[in-house]
Amino acid sequence: MDAPLEVLGAALGVLLLLGAAVFLSLRPRKFRASKDDEAPPWAPDPSLADGHRPPDAAALSIQLLGLTRQLLGAKGAVILIPAEGGWKVALVSPGLVASFSRVLPLKEGILGLAYDGEKEIAADPVQPQAVGYLPGQQHPVSLAVAPLTHRGHIRGLLACHRESGRAFEETDMAILRRCSTLLDGWETYAAQMGAVGAARDQQERLARGLEAMLSEGKPEELPGHMLDALFDLFPATYGFCIVQDPALNFFCFSTKRIPEDFPFHYLGENTWAYYVLAKGKAPLYLDGSASLNTAMPILCEGEPFPAGATAFLCPLGTGEQFFGVAGIIGKPEEAFSEEDRRAAEHFIRQAAALVKLSALNTFNEANSIKDGLTGLFNRKYFEEQIVKEMARSQRESAPLGLLMLDVDHFKKVNDTFGHPAGDLVLRAVAGAARAAVRKVDIVCRYGGEEFAVILPVCPVAEAREVAERVRMAVESLPTGPGGLPAPVTLSVGVAAYPHPFSSPTGLTKGADAALYSAKSRGRNRVEVATR
Ligand code: GH3
Ligand code: MG
Ligand code: MG
Repeated sequence: MDAPLEVLGAALGVLLLLGAAVFLSLRPRKFRASKDDEAPPWAPDPSLADGHRPPDAAALSIQLLGLTRQLLGAKGAVILIPAEGGWKVALVSPGLVASFSRVLPLKEGILGLAYDGEKEIAADPVQPQAVGYLPGQQHPVSLAVAPLTHRGHIRGLLACHRESGRAFEETDMAILRRCSTLLDGWETYAAQMGAVGAARDQQERLARGLEAMLSEGKPEELPGHMLDALFDLFPATYGFCIVQDPALNFFCFSTKRIPEDFPFHYLGENTWAYYVLAKGKAPLYLDGSASLNTAMPILCEGEPFPAGATAFLCPLGTGEQFFGVAGIIGKPEEAFSEEDRRAAEHFIRQAAALVKLSALNTFNEANSIKDGLTGLFNRKYFEEQIVKEMARSQRESAPLGLLMLDVDHFKKVNDTFGHPAGDLVLRAVAGAARAAVRKVDIVCRYGGEEFAVILPVCPVAEAREVAERVRMAVESLPTGPGGLPAPVTLSVGVAAYPHPFSSPTGLTKGADAALYSAKSRGRNRVEVATR
C-alpha cells in the first residue's frame, strides 16, 4: 500500500515541478527580475509622451511632500532653502499653511544642526520659535529634519512636524531619508527635462532666425534679422553688427534699438568691439563687472550703454577669415547664461556666411557704375563724372556740354503695350543715344526714362547739334516686328560750362530747366539753357 502511494507522491511532485517550470517560462517577461544589461521593464512607455504637457515639477514635488507627510503621520512637511542668509520655505505639503517670507537662522537650532552635521536629525519637544515658518504655532512640536543633498552638497532641508510627544523613531527617519533621496532624484530629473526642453526651444528660435534671414531676401536687412534672432534668445537691449567691406577700407555698421543720435562714426581701436574683431576667433562675454572695471567702451566714447552693462560680442567669420563683429548688449542685472552664449555663437557662425554674402552684394552694388537694364552708366557714376569732367574742363580751359533727355509720353507706352515693351523702348533709346555721340561722351541713365549725356570738350553750339542728332535718331527708330511697338520721341535740354553755368549743380539744373521748357513747348524738341 505504501509503495504505490510513494510512487504516486513522486509522480505528483514531478508533475508539480514541471507545471511550475512551464508556468514560470510562460510568465510575461516583465515579472522577471531584470538583468543589468536590460532596460527595466517598467521604463516609461515612449507613447506616454503624447503631446500632453509634462507634469509641473513643483506640483509633483508638493505631492511627494504630501506622501512624506502621510507616511510619517505628520502634520506637515516643508522644503526649506537657503535664502537671504537663513532658511526660507520653498514648498509645503498640500493644505499646510506656512510663511514663505520668514527667514530662520541658518546655523541655529535643529535646522542648523541638520545643516552642519549633514544628516537627518529628530527632536521632541521643539519650541514653536524653532519652526517659525509655521505661523500661529503655539505649542512645542516633534520635529524631524533631513538634508536635501545633491551630489554631496546640501541644497535644502526637508522638515516634518508632529504634535509633541510623538517622537520620530528610527524607522521614521529611514522613511524621511528615502523621501529626501526621492525628492533629489525627481528634482534632478525635472531639471534635466527642463534643460532639454530649453535647448530645443532655443534651437527652434535660432532656426526661425536663420529662416528669416534666408527668406526675407533683402541682403542689407540680413544683419538686422541676425540681431532679431539674438534678441529672441537674450534679454538684450541693444544690438549691433559691424562688417568690414571686401576692400577692407570701411566698416558697414548696422544697429538695432540703439538711439538714432548714437555717436558711432568709425570703429576706434580702444573698444571691445575692435578687440574682438582684431583678435578674432573667440567670442567675448563682458559680465557687468568686466565692463564696469575697464575704461574701455564697447563701441565708442559716449555710448549710451549703462556702466556695468552685460555684453556678448562674437567675431563674424567664415573658416579662418574674420570680417566683422556682432554684439548684443543688455542690462547690468541680467546675465547671459552660458548655454545661451553657446547657442548664440553657434547661430552667429551660421549666420555669418549669409552676412558675408550680403556684405559682398552691398559692396558690389555700391561699386557698380552700370545700369542693369540699359547697360549705360548709372546715376551714381554720372554724379561723380560731372564733377570730375568740370574740373578737367577748368584745368584745360575747354568747354563742356550736358544733355538731359526724357522720353515723351513714356507712361503711355507702358500703359498701352505693357512694362516689358516699355523696357524694350528704354533699351532702344539708350542704344540710339550711344550710337549718336562720340566715344568720349558719357551716356548715363539718370533715372526712369531720363538720360544724361556729358560732352567733354564740346562748345554749346556743338552740344545743341549732338542733342538734335540724338533726338532724330530716336524719332527714326524703326517700329513694327523686330522694332519698337510704336514711335517714340525725346525732349532734350542742353546746358554748357563754363558759360552760363559754373557749378555741377547749376549745370544739371540748367539742363533740367531747358528740358522742362522743351516739354512745355510741345515735346520732341531741343532747348538750350541760357541761365
Ligand atoms: P512726359 O512726356 O511728360 O515725360 O510724360 P511721361 O509719360 O514720359 O512721364 P511720366 O513721368 O509721367 O512717366 C514716366 C514713366 O516711366 C512712369 C514709369 O512707370 C515709367 N518707368 C520708369 N522707369 C521704368 C522702367 O525701368 N521700365 C519701364 N517700362 N517703365 C519705367
Ligand atoms: Mg520723366
Ligand atoms: Mg517722359
